Amino acid sequence: MTISVTRATALKAKPDGSDIGFGTHTTDHLFLADYRADTGWINPRVEPYQGVRLDPTALALHYGCSIFEGLKMFRQPDGRLAIFRPLTNAERLNHSARLMALPDLPTDLFLDGLLALVRMDEAWTPTHAGYTLYARPVMLGIEPTLGVQRPKQCLFYILLTPTPPYYRKGQRGFRLLADRRFARGGPYSVAAAKTAGNYGKMVLPIEEARRLGFDTVLWLDGRQQRFIEEAGITNIFVVYRDCIVTPPLNGRILPGVTRDSTLTLLRERGLPVQEAETPIDALCAAIKAGDVREVFLTGTATVVAPVSSISFEGRDHVLPSQTPLAAAIYDTLTGIQAGVLPDKYGWLHHV
Ligand SMILES: *Cc1c(COP(=O)(O)O)cnc(C)c1O
Repeated sequence: MTISVTRATALKAKPDGSDIGFGTHTTDHLFLADYRADTGWINPRVEPYQGVRLDPTALALHYGCSIFEGLKMFRQPDGRLAIFRPLTNAERLNHSARLMALPDLPTDLFLDGLLALVRMDEAWTPTHAGYTLYARPVMLGIEPTLGVQRPKQCLFYILLTPTPPYYRKGQRGFRLLADRRFARGGPYSVAAAKTAGNYGKMVLPIEEARRLGFDTVLWLDGRQQRFIEEAGITNIFVVYRDCIVTPPLNGRILPGVTRDSTLTLLRERGLPVQEAETPIDALCAAIKAGDVREVFLTGTATVVAPVSSISFEGRDHVLPSQTPLAAAIYDTLTGIQAGVLPDKYGWLHHV
Protein backbone atom coordinates (compact mmCIF):
# COMPACT_ATOMS: atom_id res chain seq x y z
CA MET A 1 0.00 0.00 0.00
CA THR A 2 1.35 3.41 -0.89
CA ILE A 3 1.56 5.88 1.93
CA SER A 4 0.46 9.38 0.95
CA VAL A 5 2.41 12.18 2.52
CA THR A 6 1.29 15.71 3.36
CA ARG A 7 4.07 17.79 4.86
CA ALA A 8 3.49 20.26 7.65
CA THR A 9 3.99 23.79 6.38
CA ALA A 10 4.87 25.30 9.74
CA LEU A 11 7.26 23.24 11.88
CA LYS A 12 7.07 23.34 15.65
CA ALA A 13 9.91 24.57 17.85
CA LYS A 14 11.92 21.61 19.13
CA PRO A 15 12.60 21.36 22.87
CA ASP A 16 16.24 21.77 23.86
CA GLY A 17 16.39 18.82 26.24
CA SER A 18 15.99 19.83 29.84
CA ASP A 19 12.31 20.68 29.36
CA ILE A 20 11.35 17.29 27.91
CA GLY A 21 8.90 15.23 29.97
CA PHE A 22 7.23 11.96 28.99
CA GLY A 23 4.82 12.86 26.19
CA THR A 24 5.07 16.60 26.72
CA HIS A 25 6.26 17.26 23.16
CA THR A 26 5.06 15.68 19.94
CA THR A 27 6.71 15.89 16.53
CA ASP A 28 5.44 17.56 13.36
CA HIS A 29 3.61 14.63 11.79
CA LEU A 30 1.35 11.65 12.47
CA PHE A 31 0.93 8.40 10.59
CA LEU A 32 -2.71 7.34 10.23
CA ALA A 33 -4.77 4.58 8.59
CA ASP A 34 -8.51 3.85 8.58
CA TYR A 35 -10.31 0.55 8.93
CA ARG A 36 -13.77 -0.37 7.78
CA ALA A 37 -15.14 -3.87 8.08
CA ASP A 38 -15.97 -3.91 4.34
CA THR A 39 -12.62 -2.54 3.06
CA GLY A 40 -10.07 -3.55 5.68
CA TRP A 41 -7.23 -1.07 6.34
CA ILE A 42 -7.15 1.78 3.84
CA ASN A 43 -5.80 5.26 3.33
CA PRO A 44 -2.38 5.04 5.01
CA ARG A 45 -0.99 8.53 5.26
CA VAL A 46 1.47 10.84 6.93
CA GLU A 47 -0.11 14.16 7.85
CA PRO A 48 0.77 17.25 9.84
CA TYR A 49 0.26 16.60 13.57
CA GLN A 50 -3.23 17.68 14.54
CA GLY A 51 -6.21 16.74 16.68
CA VAL A 52 -8.18 13.57 15.93
CA ARG A 53 -11.86 14.23 15.34
CA LEU A 54 -14.20 11.57 16.71
CA ASP A 55 -17.95 11.33 16.87
CA PRO A 56 -19.02 11.74 20.51
CA THR A 57 -20.55 8.23 20.32
CA ALA A 58 -17.25 6.66 19.15
CA LEU A 59 -16.84 3.30 20.93
CA ALA A 60 -13.33 3.99 22.20
CA LEU A 61 -14.58 6.96 24.20
CA HIS A 62 -17.25 4.95 26.00
CA TYR A 63 -16.08 1.38 26.28
CA GLY A 64 -12.29 1.55 26.13
CA CYS A 65 -12.04 -0.10 22.68
CA SER A 66 -8.51 1.16 22.54
CA ILE A 67 -5.09 -0.48 22.43
CA PHE A 68 -1.60 0.90 22.11
CA GLU A 69 2.10 0.15 21.83
CA GLY A 70 5.30 1.82 22.98
CA LEU A 71 8.74 1.49 21.40
CA LYS A 72 11.93 3.46 21.05
CA MET A 73 14.41 4.56 18.42
CA PHE A 74 18.13 4.92 19.04
CA ARG A 75 20.83 6.96 17.33
CA GLN A 76 23.55 4.63 16.03
CA PRO A 77 27.30 5.38 15.91
CA ASP A 78 26.98 6.09 12.15
CA GLY A 79 24.34 8.74 12.84
CA ARG A 80 21.41 6.69 11.53
CA LEU A 81 18.44 5.72 13.69
CA ALA A 82 17.48 2.17 14.56
CA ILE A 83 14.14 1.00 15.99
CA PHE A 84 14.27 -1.65 18.70
CA ARG A 85 12.28 -4.81 17.81
CA PRO A 86 9.42 -3.08 15.95
CA LEU A 87 7.99 -6.33 14.57
CA THR A 88 7.59 -7.71 18.07
CA ASN A 89 5.52 -4.65 18.94
CA ALA A 90 3.50 -5.02 15.71
CA GLU A 91 2.71 -8.62 16.67
CA ARG A 92 1.85 -7.64 20.22
CA LEU A 93 -0.54 -4.98 18.93
CA ASN A 94 -2.39 -7.78 17.15
CA HIS A 95 -2.36 -9.88 20.32
CA SER A 96 -4.01 -6.95 22.12
CA ALA A 97 -6.39 -6.48 19.17
CA ARG A 98 -7.60 -10.08 19.40
CA LEU A 99 -8.27 -9.76 23.14
CA MET A 100 -10.17 -6.50 22.60
CA ALA A 101 -12.19 -7.54 19.50
CA LEU A 102 -10.34 -5.07 17.30
CA PRO A 103 -9.08 -5.93 13.79
CA ASP A 104 -5.62 -7.27 13.03
CA LEU A 105 -3.28 -4.71 11.51
CA PRO A 106 -0.85 -6.09 8.89
CA THR A 107 2.62 -5.96 10.45
CA ASP A 108 4.10 -4.40 7.29
CA LEU A 109 1.59 -1.54 7.54
CA PHE A 110 2.74 -0.97 11.13
CA LEU A 111 6.39 -1.05 10.11
CA ASP A 112 6.08 0.95 6.86
CA GLY A 113 3.97 3.59 8.61
CA LEU A 114 6.44 3.87 11.45
CA LEU A 115 9.40 4.12 9.05
CA ALA A 116 7.67 6.79 6.93
CA LEU A 117 6.93 8.82 10.05
CA VAL A 118 10.38 8.42 11.58
CA ARG A 119 12.02 9.47 8.31
CA MET A 120 9.93 12.65 8.31
CA ASP A 121 10.58 13.58 11.94
CA GLU A 122 14.04 12.12 12.67
CA ALA A 123 15.36 15.57 13.50
CA TRP A 124 13.32 15.41 16.71
CA THR A 125 15.63 12.75 18.15
CA PRO A 126 17.07 14.26 21.35
CA THR A 127 20.84 14.39 21.67
CA HIS A 128 21.04 14.28 25.50
CA ALA A 129 22.36 11.01 26.93
CA GLY A 130 19.58 8.56 27.66
CA TYR A 131 16.96 10.60 25.80
CA THR A 132 15.32 8.94 22.82
CA LEU A 133 12.50 9.20 20.34
CA TYR A 134 9.52 7.14 21.50
CA ALA A 135 6.74 5.93 19.22
CA ARG A 136 3.19 5.48 20.47
CA PRO A 137 1.03 3.51 18.02
CA VAL A 138 -2.68 3.52 18.92
CA MET A 139 -5.71 1.65 17.58
CA LEU A 140 -9.20 2.90 18.41
CA GLY A 141 -12.65 1.51 17.66
CA ILE A 142 -14.34 4.69 16.42
CA GLU A 143 -17.64 3.41 15.08
CA PRO A 144 -20.36 5.90 16.04
CA THR A 145 -22.76 3.67 17.98
CA LEU A 146 -23.39 3.00 21.61
CA GLY A 147 -23.91 -0.72 21.02
CA VAL A 148 -21.38 -2.87 22.84
CA GLN A 149 -19.95 -4.70 19.86
CA ARG A 150 -16.91 -5.36 17.70
CA PRO A 151 -16.13 -1.98 16.07
CA LYS A 152 -16.73 -1.91 12.30
CA GLN A 153 -14.73 1.31 11.99
CA CYS A 154 -11.30 1.85 13.50
CA LEU A 155 -8.47 4.32 13.40
CA PHE A 156 -4.79 3.50 13.71
CA TYR A 157 -2.24 6.21 14.25
CA ILE A 158 1.35 6.59 15.38
CA LEU A 159 2.76 9.63 17.12
CA LEU A 160 6.37 10.30 18.00
CA THR A 161 7.55 12.02 21.14
CA PRO A 162 11.05 12.80 22.43
CA THR A 163 11.38 11.21 25.88
CA PRO A 164 13.65 11.47 28.88
CA PRO A 165 15.09 8.33 30.54
CA TYR A 166 12.53 7.02 33.02
CA TYR A 167 15.17 5.47 35.22
CA ARG A 168 18.80 6.54 35.39
CA LYS A 169 21.51 4.14 36.43
CA GLY A 170 22.68 4.83 39.95
CA GLN A 171 19.29 6.24 40.95
CA ARG A 172 17.79 4.70 44.11
CA GLY A 173 15.88 1.46 43.44
CA PHE A 174 12.09 1.33 43.38
CA ARG A 175 10.17 0.86 46.63
CA LEU A 176 7.18 -1.36 45.96
CA LEU A 177 3.95 -1.76 47.88
CA ALA A 178 2.12 -5.08 47.62
CA ASP A 179 -1.39 -4.81 48.99
CA ARG A 180 -4.22 -7.35 48.78
CA ARG A 181 -6.57 -4.51 47.83
CA PHE A 182 -4.78 -3.99 44.52
CA ALA A 183 -4.80 -6.38 41.56
CA ARG A 184 -4.14 -6.07 37.84
CA GLY A 185 -5.50 -9.27 36.37
CA GLY A 186 -8.41 -11.38 37.52
CA PRO A 187 -9.70 -14.77 36.38
CA TYR A 188 -11.31 -13.12 33.36
CA SER A 189 -9.37 -10.08 32.41
CA VAL A 190 -7.56 -8.45 29.53
CA ALA A 191 -4.44 -7.89 31.63
CA ALA A 192 -2.32 -9.38 28.83
CA ALA A 193 -3.50 -6.67 26.40
CA LYS A 194 -1.95 -3.24 26.21
CA THR A 195 -5.33 -1.59 26.52
CA ALA A 196 -6.56 1.70 27.93
CA GLY A 197 -8.66 0.32 30.79
CA ASN A 198 -5.75 -1.57 32.33
CA TYR A 199 -4.05 1.79 32.75
CA GLY A 200 -6.98 3.89 33.87
CA LYS A 201 -7.63 1.59 36.80
CA MET A 202 -3.99 1.68 37.94
CA VAL A 203 -4.01 5.41 38.63
CA LEU A 204 -5.76 5.29 41.99
CA PRO A 205 -3.72 2.43 43.53
CA ILE A 206 -0.44 3.97 42.34
CA GLU A 207 -1.52 7.30 43.77
CA GLU A 208 -2.27 5.57 47.08
CA ALA A 209 1.15 3.83 47.07
CA ARG A 210 2.87 7.18 46.48
CA ARG A 211 0.86 8.79 49.25
CA LEU A 212 2.18 6.09 51.58
CA GLY A 213 5.77 6.81 50.51
CA PHE A 214 6.31 4.08 47.90
CA ASP A 215 7.18 4.44 44.24
CA THR A 216 4.59 2.08 42.81
CA VAL A 217 2.39 -0.96 43.35
CA LEU A 218 3.53 -4.58 43.17
CA TRP A 219 0.38 -6.11 41.69
CA LEU A 220 -0.93 -9.37 43.09
CA ASP A 221 -3.21 -11.70 41.15
CA GLY A 222 -6.88 -10.81 41.39
CA ARG A 223 -8.16 -14.28 42.28
CA GLN A 224 -6.16 -15.30 45.33
CA GLN A 225 -4.24 -12.04 45.95
CA ARG A 226 -1.28 -14.31 46.35
CA PHE A 227 1.03 -14.33 43.33
CA ILE A 228 3.13 -11.39 42.20
CA GLU A 229 2.40 -10.29 38.65
CA GLU A 230 3.94 -6.96 37.65
CA ALA A 231 5.07 -3.74 39.29
CA GLY A 232 3.51 -0.48 38.14
CA ILE A 233 3.71 -0.72 34.36
CA THR A 234 6.71 -3.03 34.21
CA ASN A 235 7.47 -6.74 34.34
CA ILE A 236 9.38 -8.12 37.30
CA PHE A 237 12.31 -10.52 37.84
CA VAL A 238 13.47 -12.08 41.10
CA VAL A 239 17.10 -13.19 41.35
CA TYR A 240 17.41 -15.98 43.94
CA ARG A 241 20.72 -17.52 44.96
CA ASP A 242 20.19 -20.46 42.62
CA CYS A 243 17.83 -19.23 39.89
CA ILE A 244 16.05 -16.26 38.33
CA VAL A 245 12.27 -16.22 38.20
CA THR A 246 9.72 -14.10 36.37
CA PRO A 247 5.94 -14.68 36.33
CA PRO A 248 4.81 -16.82 33.35
CA LEU A 249 2.64 -15.46 30.52
CA ASN A 250 -0.50 -16.86 32.16
CA GLY A 251 -2.94 -14.44 30.54
CA ARG A 252 -2.58 -11.89 33.32
CA ILE A 253 0.92 -10.70 32.46
CA LEU A 254 1.71 -8.17 29.75
CA PRO A 255 4.18 -9.88 27.42
CA GLY A 256 6.88 -7.20 27.63
CA VAL A 257 9.41 -6.90 24.83
CA THR A 258 12.03 -5.97 27.43
CA ARG A 259 10.96 -9.01 29.50
CA ASP A 260 11.54 -11.22 26.46
CA SER A 261 14.88 -9.54 25.61
CA THR A 262 15.98 -9.93 29.25
CA LEU A 263 15.08 -13.65 29.27
CA THR A 264 17.19 -14.07 26.11
CA LEU A 265 20.17 -12.21 27.61
CA LEU A 266 19.96 -14.15 30.89
CA ARG A 267 19.86 -17.49 29.04
CA GLU A 268 22.76 -16.37 26.85
CA ARG A 269 24.78 -15.92 30.04
CA GLY A 270 23.97 -19.50 30.95
CA LEU A 271 21.93 -18.46 33.98
CA PRO A 272 19.10 -20.72 35.19
CA VAL A 273 15.87 -18.89 34.39
CA GLN A 274 12.33 -19.99 35.14
CA GLU A 275 8.97 -18.56 34.24
CA ALA A 276 7.05 -19.52 37.36
CA GLU A 277 4.38 -18.25 39.74
CA THR A 278 5.86 -16.53 42.78
CA PRO A 279 3.72 -16.25 45.93
CA ILE A 280 4.24 -12.95 47.73
CA ASP A 281 4.59 -14.57 51.16
CA ALA A 282 7.29 -16.95 49.88
CA LEU A 283 9.09 -14.03 48.26
CA CYS A 284 9.03 -12.01 51.48
CA ALA A 285 10.27 -15.03 53.47
CA ALA A 286 13.09 -15.58 50.97
CA ILE A 287 14.15 -11.93 51.22
CA LYS A 288 14.15 -12.23 55.00
CA ALA A 289 16.26 -15.40 54.83
CA GLY A 290 18.77 -13.64 52.58
CA ASP A 291 18.00 -15.90 49.60
CA VAL A 292 17.10 -13.07 47.23
CA ARG A 293 20.04 -11.26 45.65
CA GLU A 294 18.10 -8.80 43.51
CA VAL A 295 14.66 -7.88 42.26
CA PHE A 296 14.45 -5.80 39.10
CA LEU A 297 11.85 -4.34 36.76
CA THR A 298 11.86 -4.29 32.96
CA GLY A 299 10.06 -2.15 30.39
CA THR A 300 10.72 0.02 27.34
CA ALA A 301 10.61 3.25 29.35
CA THR A 302 12.47 1.85 32.36
CA VAL A 303 14.89 -0.52 30.55
CA VAL A 304 16.06 -2.40 33.70
CA ALA A 305 15.61 -0.84 37.14
CA PRO A 306 16.40 -2.36 40.54
CA VAL A 307 13.91 -2.67 43.40
CA SER A 308 15.16 -1.58 46.80
CA SER A 309 12.30 -2.82 48.98
CA ILE A 310 8.97 -4.62 48.95
CA SER A 311 6.40 -3.76 51.57
CA PHE A 312 3.66 -6.27 52.38
CA GLU A 313 1.25 -6.45 55.29
CA GLY A 314 2.97 -3.62 57.13
CA ARG A 315 6.52 -5.00 56.84
CA ASP A 316 9.30 -3.62 54.70
CA HIS A 317 11.47 -6.28 53.09
CA VAL A 318 14.70 -4.59 52.13
CA LEU A 319 16.77 -5.90 49.20
CA PRO A 320 20.55 -5.78 48.84
CA SER A 321 21.73 -2.40 47.56
CA GLN A 322 24.20 -3.94 45.12
CA THR A 323 22.37 -5.14 42.00
CA PRO A 324 25.07 -6.35 39.61
CA LEU A 325 22.82 -8.49 37.42
CA ALA A 326 20.30 -5.69 36.83
CA ALA A 327 23.22 -3.39 35.98
CA ALA A 328 24.74 -5.95 33.59
CA ILE A 329 21.47 -6.53 31.74
CA TYR A 330 20.90 -2.76 31.61
CA ASP A 331 24.36 -2.23 30.09
CA THR A 332 23.97 -5.03 27.57
CA LEU A 333 20.52 -3.96 26.45
CA THR A 334 21.38 -0.26 26.16
CA GLY A 335 24.67 -1.20 24.44
CA ILE A 336 22.81 -3.23 21.80
CA GLN A 337 20.27 -0.43 21.38
CA ALA A 338 22.99 2.18 20.92
CA GLY A 339 24.75 -0.02 18.34
CA VAL A 340 27.93 -0.37 20.40
CA LEU A 341 27.45 -4.06 21.24
CA PRO A 342 26.83 -6.74 18.59
CA ASP A 343 23.16 -7.18 17.67
CA LYS A 344 23.25 -10.99 17.64
CA TYR A 345 19.51 -11.45 17.59
CA GLY A 346 18.71 -8.90 14.89
CA TRP A 347 16.78 -6.69 17.31
CA LEU A 348 17.64 -3.43 15.58
CA HIS A 349 15.67 -2.32 12.56
CA HIS A 350 17.71 0.36 10.80
CA VAL A 351 15.77 3.34 9.51
C1 LIG B 1 4.06 -2.07 28.17
C2 LIG B 1 3.98 -2.78 29.46
C3 LIG B 1 5.06 -3.48 30.02
C4 LIG B 1 6.43 -3.48 29.41
O1 LIG B 1 6.48 -3.95 28.11
P1 LIG B 1 7.72 -3.54 27.19
O2 LIG B 1 7.35 -4.11 25.85
O3 LIG B 1 8.92 -4.15 27.77
O4 LIG B 1 7.77 -2.05 27.19
C5 LIG B 1 4.85 -4.15 31.20
N1 LIG B 1 3.67 -4.14 31.83
C6 LIG B 1 2.62 -3.46 31.34
C7 LIG B 1 1.34 -3.48 32.08
C8 LIG B 1 2.73 -2.76 30.13
O5 LIG B 1 1.68 -2.10 29.66
